[in-house]
Amino acid sequence: MNQIHHYINGCSVDGRSERFAPVYNPATGEQSAQVALASADETRGAVRAADEAFATWSKITPLKRARILFRFKALVEEHADELARLISSEHGKVFSDAKGEVTRGLEVVEFACGIPHLQKGEHSMNVGTGVDSYSMMQPLGVCAGISPFNFPAMVPMWMFPIALACGNTFVMKPSEKDPSTPMRLAELLTEAGLPDGVFNVVNGDKESVDVLLTDERVQAVSFVGSTPIAETIYATASAHGKRVQALGGAKNHMVIMPDADLDQAVGALMGAAYGSAGERCMAISVAVPVGEETAQRLRDKLVAELDKLSVGPGLVDGPDNDMGPLVTREHLEKVKGYIQAGVDEGAELVVDGRETAIEGAGDGFFVGGSLFDHVKPGMRIHSEEIFGPVLAIARAASFDEAVSMINDHEFGNGTAIFTRDGDAARQYCEQIQVGMVGVNVPIPVPMAFHSFGGWKRSLFGPLHMHGPDGVRFYTRMKTITQRWPSGIREETNHFTMPTL
Ligand code: NAD
Repeated sequence: MNQIHHYINGCSVDGRSERFAPVYNPATGEQSAQVALASADETRGAVRAADEAFATWSKITPLKRARILFRFKALVEEHADELARLISSEHGKVFSDAKGEVTRGLEVVEFACGIPHLQKGEHSMNVGTGVDSYSMMQPLGVCAGISPFNFPAMVPMWMFPIALACGNTFVMKPSEKDPSTPMRLAELLTEAGLPDGVFNVVNGDKESVDVLLTDERVQAVSFVGSTPIAETIYATASAHGKRVQALGGAKNHMVIMPDADLDQAVGALMGAAYGSAGERCMAISVAVPVGEETAQRLRDKLVAELDKLSVGPGLVDGPDNDMGPLVTREHLEKVKGYIQAGVDEGAELVVDGRETAIEGAGDGFFVGGSLFDHVKPGMRIHSEEIFGPVLAIARAASFDEAVSMINDHEFGNGTAIFTRDGDAARQYCEQIQVGMVGVNVPIPVPMAFHSFGGWKRSLFGPLHMHGPDGVRFYTRMKTITQRWPSGIREETNHFTMPTL
């Protein structure tokens, strides 16, 4: 049995806890490896390595740090196919989608390569007579990242490139469901010239996460995963004095106005709902057509498109399938349970993915694309995140009803509106209580040089991931106000607030 361990101080380190979790190939249903689950002590060892490396790494010039990231970027490009195959073999997503994930992660590396510019701080001459003021953006120390299964390359790359570029060291705790890709990224960082101990990977579960949330050497925690865990991570790490960004779950709605280009909207919706088998935090899981006529036309077109959706293994010879399997059997059962819950709650199951015949499925964790109509707020399939290939149509009588439905929802990660009406789009962008909004764009994931984050219970903490917020998150601002001797010679005692 292939074993996956930890990566500490520049090399692979065998786990000693004798605790393991199974890793599956979702396309076959077979166990492909077992991953070591770090003990608290082993996790503290990784934190120690990162803490010791910080003293030197934080003093290296930003330009030299950026040059290592430039080499890392070239290596990831060189190994993009290999990484995409690794992702697909443990996550299940189709190869082209896995390559897209690698590219989106690389964009953050490219952004982080600009760190000499991004970490410049600010400078004001003569804030008072002969007095200058400037700010430094200094690294924090050891930062920790805890990532979900659904983007084993991209989500870690939302975090560590910027953290490292800013002069921090890092301990990554990836999802135990697909740990091989982050391990490979760690090797590539070493090959790029990153000093030992600057980036470490501990594989594990709650036991290792608890150390990262409480160890006083860890200064900041970035988390991406489900909302209940995000909330706990935020509360615990904050209570231990760390800065935290904890991104949680989602239920993303797409509003389709009567004047929308329906073919364009349906094409966008198919990819956004069923791509990656719906296991994306920015997947659209609720379509909100405005008006009965729009709803009926949308439904008919979706049914026709679903008939053409190709479901099968993520790695095939020849053209990719549209959608692969789900990540584990447990998750497959959960998604099927939601489909049944929708039926039991009275929604109309228009297309039942449980019945889809899937060629080459074997014992893989497959389910076809499902479509519900007449879904209403209050039903579990509307209020909860399914994280599978299940699209709900929730009809709205008006634009205002559509907006209220979305604003009343617990989550606020992403949303989209499809319309030809600039005024409706503008109002939507202004009124909607969601962090990332697409106008005729179905999955509005911001580019690396903007920041990514939801609102409401989709994000705990004030700062979003990557982009300018990423640099703010991984640096501490220090502001210096200075006056040189000639000014000091004229100094008199001040007992009131200086106003310069
Ligand atoms: P998860 O919350 O189960 O796990 C995320 C991470 O937390 C993993 O590393 C896991 O090992 C760890 N973890 C799990 N339980 C824990 C516990 N009790 N204590 C400490 N650590 C624990 O999430 P998942 O199933 O891996 O990923 C899917 C979820 O992630 C979905 O809800 C999805 O919406 C969300 N997600 C959100 C975003 C975003 O940007 N908002 C992006 C990707 C995924």
